[in-house]
Amino acid sequence: MNSVILRDAAHRAGALDAAAHSVAIARLHSVYRPQYRRYRLPFRAPVRTAHGPWLEREGLILRLEDEGGTVGFGEAAPVPEFGRETVDADEAACRALGAVTDNDTIAEVPKELGCLRNALASARADIGVARELRREEISALTRRATDMLTVAALLPAGRAALTQIPPRAEIGFRVFKWKVGVADPADELSLLDDLCGALPSGGKLRLDANGAWDRRRAERWLERCADRPVDFVEQPIATDAKGAEDLLLGLAGDYPTPIALDESLVGDGDIDRWLGAGWPGVFVVKSALVADVPAALAKLQRANAAVVFSSALETTVGARAALRAAFAWTGERRPLGFGVWPLFADPRFDGPALAPFLRAEDVDRLNPEAVWNALS
Ligand code: MG
Repeated sequence: MNSVILRDAAHRAGALDAAAHSVAIARLHSVYRPQYRRYRLPFRAPVRTAHGPWLEREGLILRLEDEGGTVGFGEAAPVPEFGRETVDADEAACRALGAVTDNDTIAEVPKELGCLRNALASARADIGVARELRREEISALTRRATDMLTVAALLPAGRAALTQIPPRAEIGFRVFKWKVGVADPADELSLLDDLCGALPSGGKLRLDANGAWDRRRAERWLERCADRPVDFVEQPIATDAKGAEDLLLGLAGDYPTPIALDESLVGDGDIDRWLGAGWPGVFVVKSALVADVPAALAKLQRANAAVVFSSALETTVGARAALRAAFAWTGERRPLGFGVWPLFADPRFDGPALAPFLRAEDVDRLNPEAVWNALS
C-alpha cells in the first residue's frame, strides 16, 4: 500500500484523536451556573404505607447552565424512610457549589448525598445530550420513540383495592401492586383471595409490605402466596430487623414466590452488597436514590439481575431521568413501578398520565423547565 496514503490515514486518525481529546478536556473543564429551588408539595391524597400516612413530598430541583447557555435539570428528593440523606443537607451542599461550579467541585459532593449526586449527574447528562446530539442520534431517538414499557397499577391499601382492580383491568393493566402491613393482618390475609379473584386473566399481584412483618408473618404470607398469581412480595422484613439480611436470604430460598428488595436498597453501596450476597430475588431500583445510575445498572446487568424500575414519588424532573434509565435497560423488562400519577395536589408536577403502557416519546415530552418555572 502507498505509504503516503498510510501516512495520511495516520494523520487523520491523529487529528480525530486530538479532536476527541479536546472535547474530553472541554467536558472536564466545563463550568456551570448552578441554581436550585426547594419544594414541599402536598400529595392529592395521603400515601398510606406500613410507615404511616405520607402527606407531602420534599425535595429540590437543580438547574445547571453551561457557558454556552445549555441548560440541564435534576431532582434530589431523598425518601425519609430510606437512609439518612436529608433535603436540608442537599440544600446546604447546593449552596456550597457557589455561583459558578465545575466538574471537580461537583465530584466532591459527599458520597452520602446520593440523591443530590444523581440530580447533578442528570443535569449534566441533559447538557451533554443537548451539546452532542448529532443527526444519526436524533434518528435513533425517533426510532426509539415508539418503544414501550408496561406499567403496574398501584392499588390503595386495604379493602379499597378490590373496587379499583376492575376499572384498571378494563383500560389494560395486568399487574397490580397492593400495599400490605397497613390494615389488620388477618383482614389483609383474608383479602388476598378476593383480590386474586378480581384479577383479569393472566393478571398478577405484587405485594409490598414496606418491612412491616416479622419472620412468622412473612412465612404465613409466603406460604399463602405460593400457589397464587403473586408476581413478588416486596420488602417483607424491615432493614433494621435483627439479622434482616440472613432472614431475607432464607425466605428467598424457602418459598417459590420471589422476594423483592426495596428499602434494603438505599443507594449504590446496597446494590453492590446484595449482588455480592447473591440475592436471588428482585431488585426494586428507585433510580432517583442511586448516585451513579449507569454504574449501578451495569453491575446489575452483568449479574443478570431481575430489576423493577420504580418511582420514588418524585416530580416530572426526577421521573424523566428514572424513566430514561428504564428505557435504556437491556435486561428482561418487567412492568414499571410507575403507576403513581396523578400524585400531587398541583398537577403541574405530575409525570405522564396513568396508562398501562408508557412510550419513550411520552418520557421525551416531559418538560423539566415547566416544573422549574412552577416553583418560581
Ligand atoms: Mg416498596
